[in-house]
Amino acid sequence: MGYSSDVIQKLKGQLIVSCQANPGDAFYGPEMMARFALAALRGSAGGFRLDGAADIAEVRRHTDVPIIGIAKEVWSDGRTLITPTFEAAQRLAEAGASLIALDATARGRRYGAFERLARIRAELALPVLADIATLEEAEAAVAAGADLVASTLRGYTAETSAVTRFDPEFLAELCHRVPVPVIAEGRILAPQQACSAMRAGALAVVVGTAITRPHEITRAFAAAVCEGRRAPAAGGAFLGIDLGGTNTKFGAVSAEGELLFRGTVPTPAGAGRDGLLDHLKRTAAECARQAAEAGIAAEALGIATAGWVDRRTGVVAYATENLPGWTGTPIATELVPVAGIPVAVENDANALAVAEKRFGLARNAADFVCFTLGTGVGGGCYTGSRLNRGRHSFANALGHIPIARTGPPCTCGRKGCLEMFANAAALVRYAGAGFADAGAVIAAANRGDRTARRAIGRLAEYLAAGSAAVIHLLDPELLIFSGGLVENNPLLLDRLRERLPREVTAWERRRVEVRASELGYYGGVYGAAAVAAEEAPH
Ligand SMILES: [Zn+2]
Repeated sequence: MGYSSDVIQKLKGQLIVSCQANPGDAFYGPEMMARFALAALRGSAGGFRLDGAADIAEVRRHTDVPIIGIAKEVWSDGRTLITPTFEAAQRLAEAGASLIALDATARGRRYGAFERLARIRAELALPVLADIATLEEAEAAVAAGADLVASTLRGYTAETSAVTRFDPEFLAELCHRVPVPVIAEGRILAPQQACSAMRAGALAVVVGTAITRPHEITRAFAAAVCEGRRAPAAGGAFLGIDLGGTNTKFGAVSAEGELLFRGTVPTPAGAGRDGLLDHLKRTAAECARQAAEAGIAAEALGIATAGWVDRRTGVVAYATENLPGWTGTPIATELVPVAGIPVAVENDANALAVAEKRFGLARNAADFVCFTLGTGVGGGCYTGSRLNRGRHSFANALGHIPIARTGPPCTCGRKGCLEMFANAAALVRYAGAGFADAGAVIAAANRGDRTARRAIGRLAEYLAAGSAAVIHLLDPELLIFSGGLVENNPLLLDRLRERLPREVTAWERRRVEVRASELGYYGGVYGAAAVAAEEAPH
């Protein structure tokens, strides 16, 4: 069988491009098919599958690579049959086909496929490729003398109609079961699938629609665009950037409160206004890039920053010297062109309160207060399910609630502010020499160190005094604490719960819950995303 092994050798390891068009297609006709074939040759196609003598003759004028010839005809049962007569095969051979494919499924056999197969091999001296849908059909075709089999018709017969996509497992089984070369064909739409087909043991791979049917390719993209135009089923996602004094955290949060991705970059705190803005823009672009990569349709971007922010304009109303030059910066205006979606800016502590309301412990609370305890002390207060921002955006300065007449000078220039009695530096001060930082005090307290535990108890007393002031003012149902001093530090809130009844009038008539936030290390990102969610159009 010299003619057979020669063609098989040429096809080995090649991409075979199926160039076919139906009457009415924009590319119908032999000249058009030849142009597709020429383009495919430039792209390293090593063979073609062509329908009809006219297309084969035209393509053959340009190339001598193997051509699988088929003749599709509507048959007596009203359905298309591949190469249903010997005469059709003869015309394909005369036009330049290197091998003939025919329908060797059970249906094809009812119309004499095996007799035709034998006659083509004997009289035309061309190898025959059996298009099959099942293993049994493949084995029968090989027994009848087929030189190769192809998985072309899997999914296109009544028996296999449940198969709607490329099936590499079937292909591997087929290669294992039949003693002749197997050509992979059918619903191979992506390069990776062609790779899988070769790894399954195929001699060569036929790709058609994905290369030579522009209207089908267009339809797939159009459907994807349509899907992207609709709001995601889950209800969208929100991007958040938490600009901290040391690190900037960013990420995306789904409407259900799931953190979809996240990242951390150092904050160039001393870079000044322009440097910080550039940093925010770069972070926003990176955030948008990751969202796009993950297929997330972001509805809005939220920025949480230190300093007081005018929420309506997105301008920093006032920032301390922790972020030099930040006062007056129009963050929202600067970031909208980069983000391409609505941008909302909020004070970081306020943003945490918004996050607790939307994603956290305060989902069902109308009146609650969030305290953040870290380098500084801040917070956010909800009354009647609304975040109180105040007339000048300066509300919720919980760190500057006076709880004493004296004490270390505060960043605001006064003495006696809660922040100076309840921040990380205060805890280290109470613990005395031998503790490097607040984390060391908390770790020691958790190990049972009495000095450390006493220090935490003392901080809790001051915190109770500050909390009492807020409770007397707002009568909340829930206090939520977050920040570095609260993480891994259950003793602090235990001591606070013990102390509060002594500090608050009519405590026994109130139901005030004291909880540690559950938003975690990326709470600030949740906060920024929650602010974005409030901004997003609904
Ligand atoms: Zn102060």
